[in-house]
Amino acid sequence: MHIDPQDRVICAGGGPEEDPRLSAGPAGTDSAPASRPAATPIYQSSLFTFPDYGALLDGFGAEHRTNLYSRGKNPTVQVLERKLAALERGEACICFSSGMAAVSAVMLGLLRSGDHVLFLNDTYGPTLQLAEHLTRFGIQHDLQLELDLESIERAIRPDTRLLWLESPGTMRFRQFDIRAVASLARERGILTGIDNSWATPLCQKPLTLGVDIVMHTCSKYIGGHSDVIAGALVTTAERAERLFYSSYLLNGGILAPFDAWLLLRGLRTLPVRLAQHEADALRIAAWLDAHPAVRRVNHPALGEGRQFAATQLSGYTGLLSFELEDGGLENVSRVIDSLEHFGIGVSWGGVESLVISPNGRTNRERLDELGIPPGLIRLSVGLEGADLLIEDLSSALERLA
Ligand SMILES: *Cc1c(COP(=O)(O)O)cnc(C)c1O
Repeated sequence: MHIDPQDRVICAGGGPEEDPRLSAGPAGTDSAPASRPAATPIYQSSLFTFPDYGALLDGFGAEHRTNLYSRGKNPTVQVLERKLAALERGEACICFSSGMAAVSAVMLGLLRSGDHVLFLNDTYGPTLQLAEHLTRFGIQHDLQLELDLESIERAIRPDTRLLWLESPGTMRFRQFDIRAVASLARERGILTGIDNSWATPLCQKPLTLGVDIVMHTCSKYIGGHSDVIAGALVTTAERAERLFYSSYLLNGGILAPFDAWLLLRGLRTLPVRLAQHEADALRIAAWLDAHPAVRRVNHPALGEGRQFAATQLSGYTGLLSFELEDGGLENVSRVIDSLEHFGIGVSWGGVESLVISPNGRTNRERLDELGIPPGLIRLSVGLEGADLLIEDLSSALERLA
């Protein structure tokens, strides 16, 4: 894993744009105090008062950069937004109450009836469900699972307005040439957005590859401790302003100051956590790859997509999956139930290891449509140590014999 030294500084605290007036003293203090707190204070305030009425009126004209009402801007949240923008090498960030609130803000704020969205690669389930809902408002979509440029080009329609990308994608972690796709879209005047949650801003910076909008769920690695739900968008200042007024402020899916504080704390250890997640997940992937009961391991370092890892990813995280040779629900359940050190649950990116399968009781047809094999089991490798987790997987897979 190569982490940019600048990113380590931003994560550790004292990011380049951090305003000392926000990290010490009451809001609006003019002179920087002699000492400042090491942790960002939580501005648990729903509104901010102004020295005179004219100043409040000025604030109304620029609510996207004024601490006026915490459904708009809040100082604690703004420190987080500046850090995430800096990590993605973007101009501006808006934080949301969840990753889905961030996805919704893009769809509702930037699309209109008659527009078409092309989803590229295995896409987070609820994102596709949101797209289904949007058909009621005249917004159409398609899911494109063939990732070569010609197929992608063919899938673009004259009314395609947004290309929504995931690389590495959900469940199978397949990759494609992000730079080429972004430039193809740009030539046609199509907006690009990417769900960059798997990689975190430390391992992939899609804005530098030409993508217009980066989305994160912060509920996974950025928070890192399974105790907060949050999301973020990073883009140009101009588009962020548009999103602020067209959806963020009106949808109301804002991030609470305390949750922003939890994320600031999560960021401080993100580089060290990721280094261990990466190392342990790579060891587990290699071990699974050699196991006779395993048909295939899905990890961005393996398989056809790995050529893209070299130019797009500066490291790997700890989320991977594997496919059982004999993948009925019975076998999938047996392996999951036999694991002692993987919690059975949704989500990922925390310090505790987790296991889940997309294979449910009634969704076999849908899995076939999506190209997801029924024997797929997803692991979020936590920080318990690879030796212990491999031993656990080994005894669980033995139960299949
Ligand atoms: C969890 C997740 C989301 C949604 O984030 P929430 O914070 O749960 O709303 C989006 N994309 C991916 C890839 C995710 O794993």
